[in-house]
Amino acid sequence: MKTELLGLRHEQLIELCLQAGAKPVHAEKILASLFRYHNTDLTAIEGIPLALANFLAEHVSTFEPECTASQLAEDGTRKLLLKMPDGKEVETVLIQGPGRLTQCISTQVGCAVGCTFCLTATAGLTRNLTAAEMVAEVMAGQRFSDGNVRNLVLMGMGEPLHNYADVAQFVRIATDPKGMAFSPNRLTLSTSGLVPAIYRMIEDELPCNLAVSLNATTDEVRDRVIPINRKYPIAELMQAVRDYIKARGNKRVLIEYVMLAGVNDSIADARRLCELVAGLGCTVNLLPFNPYPGAIYASPQAAAVSAFREVLVDASIIAVVRESRGRDISAACGQLKTETVKRRKKSA
Ligand code: SF4
Repeated sequence: MKTELLGLRHEQLIELCLQAGAKPVHAEKILASLFRYHNTDLTAIEGIPLALANFLAEHVSTFEPECTASQLAEDGTRKLLLKMPDGKEVETVLIQGPGRLTQCISTQVGCAVGCTFCLTATAGLTRNLTAAEMVAEVMAGQRFSDGNVRNLVLMGMGEPLHNYADVAQFVRIATDPKGMAFSPNRLTLSTSGLVPAIYRMIEDELPCNLAVSLNATTDEVRDRVIPINRKYPIAELMQAVRDYIKARGNKRVLIEYVMLAGVNDSIADARRLCELVAGLGCTVNLLPFNPYPGAIYASPQAAAVSAFREVLVDASIIAVVRESRGRDISAACGQLKTETVKRRKKSA
């Protein structure tokens, strides 16, 4: 079986070049061809010796996922559905912010966590994505945006820390200054709260930011909203966040809080949230739930959102309300895939 070129780190590429009798500098030429010029054609890499080109043709492969659906929202958000070599599809989203383009990356086909507010969860987990497939997502985003993606967030389909080895490999490839060259400060990994894997991130000094999807302030509610809480309850999760901040120096952790009407949006919740994040210097992102057909939750009232935020701000906590982007094209992560699959079934 051939090695997948997109999933190799710089030092692994150097090893490959040495095996082929070429020089380490040729690894840089390959990286430049891939990531500066977005070229995955192994026969068209300029400046490498013929022997290396032949070696690559024999031993490595590369691919470009097919874009099977694309939607553009009024606010400039673009959703792409990408088909991987085995026919499995994942979503990636390009989000236009003020002066910067952020790409949301999927790390799995489906997800096993089962958050009850999430459309992706309803299909369960099909498989993990490889590091090469995540790199290919970014390359697709760069092609669509003329190379303008500046931030990456691992917040698409899947729980990144359930796919730790490939996600860690991807993070290292994405932040290699000679490769994709994203700043570690512009790459954020979001987790539903896999405590042991957060400690592994500390140990491995994974070069990225951490976001934790908290979404409740009591174990009783969090057990219902994010079932993984039964395994890693709030106290354990917040201790891991404290340990992460302590170990990573000035690294801040982003706390994400999806607001569900009548479930976790009360003033009492806001006060408990203040206690949970007190002294951590975390930023809290408040995300009013954006319903999708069949969802069991509703959006909170605008007044409830602003009253909730006020409690946090009064406690000197940075709290930002993030309205869902691309509302007119879909309400939830996973919806482009769901809609496309339904359309195909109808026309079959
Ligand atoms: S919110 Fe994220 S972790 Fe939870 S089920 Fe959906 S994709 Fe998985």
